[in-house]
Amino acid sequence: MDSPSPVRRVDYLDLLPAGWGKTIKQAYARQLTRAAVATAGHPFPSVAAIGPLRRRLLPRLAGVGDPRHVALTFDDGPHPDATPELLDLLARAGVRATFFLLGRMAEQLPEVARQIVDAGNEVGVHGYEHRLLLRHGPAATRHDIGRATAAITAVTGARPLWWRPPYGMANAAALLEARRLGLRPVLWTAWGRDWTRACTPDSVYRSVLRTLEGGGTILLHDSDHAAAPKCWLAMLGALPAILTTCRARGLEVGPLAEHGITGDPTRADRAGRVTRPH
Ligand SMILES: [Zn+2]
Repeated sequence: MDSPSPVRRVDYLDLLPAGWGKTIKQAYARQLTRAAVATAGHPFPSVAAIGPLRRRLLPRLAGVGDPRHVALTFDDGPHPDATPELLDLLARAGVRATFFLLGRMAEQLPEVARQIVDAGNEVGVHGYEHRLLLRHGPAATRHDIGRATAAITAVTGARPLWWRPPYGMANAAALLEARRLGLRPVLWTAWGRDWTRACTPDSVYRSVLRTLEGGGTILLHDSDHAAAPKCWLAMLGALPAILTTCRARGLEVGPLAEHGITGDPTRADRAGRVTRPH
């Protein structure tokens, strides 16, 4: 059985945003230990946001899909400035994406939330509030996911099919509630680290490209809701180069709906089997 070396664990925790605080980093460390003892074929009780390990043990949960496709996803919106600018950029590029919305922000900005769907993009559930579910009890967790799903559906008129917990971490109660609501959990294989004060278009581009492969899922943010003010400007600066690189590699970029993820994402599948969508 594989187990991550202490060095790797420290490296990974160092990558997490400083602003996330000690509690969240400790929770990552605990989940990393749990993931190390998980075996293929067993249900996975916790969602662990651990890049390389997750991709290997739970490729579908990590968002590994069709090797000729890259899923483009944005968390924490809608945002009054970032989201319209991003929608404009995507429209000019002829690319659609999946937006993991916060229920509270969708209710505050219904017009912006509707623009996302009207432009042909897909909406998923991030949560009603942006909070670490591990800190809350099962009842509060169920309530948050249910309220978020209802709010996003009511505002956009589109029924979300995907769920990504804040910070990429959840417990069994959250996973069961998501399943009951018809939501499939999905995390990411590449992120832009586009939440820091110091991030630049170049740093976001390099961060995404460091782990991006065909079949991967990119996480970016069209909001500074849980990040440094206006850090989404760096994301907007990086996105054209990311799309150009994907195109140059022969990879199609689009929403999770077209990514070819099949089966239960919380069950291990070493083969990472995917089906090309028709
Ligand atoms: Zn988030």
